[in-house]
Amino acid sequence: MREHSCPRCGRKTVYQGNPFRPFCSERCKLIDLGHWVSGDYRVPVLETEEKPPEKPGEEPGEP
Ligand SMILES: [Zn+2]
Repeated sequence: MREHSCPRCGRKTVYQGNPFRPFCSERCKLIDLGHWVSGDYRVPVLETEEKPPEKPGEEPGEP
């Protein structure tokens, strides 16, 4: 028997015969989906704006 913890509430639930897996119940599933939709879950996005190294442009003409 496989036991599994509901990712929403942590209650132990089973996969087998569970239409709401990996959640324990429809409630948890809906809540979780709702959170996703409302953006409560934020996927950590690394917004690192890596600027490309500045290429040596056209330098002002040397005398
Ligand atoms: Zn649950």
